[in-house]
Amino acid sequence: MIKTKYLIIGAGLTGATLAKCLGEDYIILEKSNSVGGLCKSFYVKDFVFDCGGHFMHGFALREQQKEQLLQIKKISKIAYKNHFIDYPFQNNIHQLSEKEYKRCMQDFEKRHKYKPLHLKNYLYYIYGKRSVDLFLIPYNEKLYCTKLNALDKDCFGRFFPKPNENKSYNDTFYYDALGCEHFFSSTFHALNMSKIIFNCFYTSIDVLHKIVYTNQGAFQYEYLINTSPFIHFYKAIYSNSYKKIKKYFKANKVLVINIGFNKNTSIHSHWLYVKDPSINFYRVGFYSNITGTNKLSVYAEIALKQNAHVHKKKQMQKVLTGLKKLNIIDDSFQVEACNFVVCDPAYVHINRHSNLIVSNFKNIMEKEQVYTIGRYGNWEYSSMIDNVKEAESLGLKIKEQNK
Ligand SMILES: Cc1cc2nc3c(=O)[nH]c(=O)nc-3n(C[C@H](O)[C@H](O)[C@H](O)COP(=O)(O)OP(=O)(O)OC[C@H]3O[C@@H](n4cnc5c(N)ncnc54)[C@H](O)[C@@H]3O)c2cc1C
Repeated sequence: MIKTKYLIIGAGLTGATLAKCLGEDYIILEKSNSVGGLCKSFYVKDFVFDCGGHFMHGFALREQQKEQLLQIKKISKIAYKNHFIDYPFQNNIHQLSEKEYKRCMQDFEKRHKYKPLHLKNYLYYIYGKRSVDLFLIPYNEKLYCTKLNALDKDCFGRFFPKPNENKSYNDTFYYDALGCEHFFSSTFHALNMSKIIFNCFYTSIDVLHKIVYTNQGAFQYEYLINTSPFIHFYKAIYSNSYKKIKKYFKANKVLVINIGFNKNTSIHSHWLYVKDPSINFYRVGFYSNITGTNKLSVYAEIALKQNAHVHKKKQMQKVLTGLKKLNIIDDSFQVEACNFVVCDPAYVHINRHSNLIVSNFKNIMEKEQVYTIGRYGNWEYSSMIDNVKEAESLGLKIKEQNK
């Protein structure tokens, strides 16, 4: 049996940051064959792609970090009927037809008749039924692949623009023109590759004896830190009670299709949100409008149910058809580069049960020196900088205990 002081599950940004902080006597078990997790970037011909655009949000960055990055004032549009309106929809209903605008305003007056018990009614309660039915429901149900009454009213956290607030968390955002992996390269390069076991996944975990069993043998630890999806980790520890709670841990997966074309488009947005169910992607992001390159480079994000089969070629054809329908490309555009990334899970379906189970689990496990952190370890929506901060603070706490 291999012994280590710190056993970390996952070599994504959270696991790598923690390992860098702990600095010694760690082993990372990584299911895939490389480090980076969702922060990987891909270099295909002249194009730089991420796992879907991975942007930094200004409030979380230090001034010194901002200097290394492109600073962009966000332009986001919504494809609505045959034109584009500004995002977010709820702040821009005056751009709808007069008739639609009036109906939205009438419903806005009646909004408080809804009890905000879940996300759908919460949105009705805040914005009124009509405007929510026109965009927020069809768009978000396309994104989450679930009915919005299955989600918690607060599930977006700070990522959802507050009512009556005209600014959002990413009005100005930051991007590394060489991709998100490049921005975090000092973290990933600090890893000792001989301490990472690739293609290694856990099968069961014995917390009492501090042993993780994997497809590559058993590992004994003093501290165990998980960054893999919470529900998988829970199952490995409590295989019996897992059956009772798994219904509360649903998520979608997202197929990201990155495409580089031979020429540029006349559309200047950074993002375009698409509720139209006949178009397979819910959003298209324009790397080239962010980095200012002269060839169109986009990523289309396609949400799928977690058990859905991913037909990459079929989805690619549908993306090209969708881009044409939205007049982003025409028949004269040629694809020069393309790559596919499956994020699974991508957006977890947060509800009060999942929140409670995760927080109880964390309280109990901390006493056993077992921690679960990161976007999926916490079963939450968080950003890369949130993950870095959480990993750094846990690293300090553990080091403090070992002084
Ligand atoms: C589509 C999309 C767009 C996003 N855009 C942004 C953005 O613009 N800005 C932003 O700040 N954040 C964004 N995020 C969030 C960001 O990607 C995450 O917050 C961050 O990458 C999470 O890092 P992590 O290390 O916690 O998880 P991950 O990157 O998921 O890393 C976990 C690692 O654990 C490994 N693993 C999983 N299971 C096992 C197992 N059983 N055994 C061993 N290893 C395992 C995985 O292979 C992976 O390497 C986005 C996320 C998605 C899905």
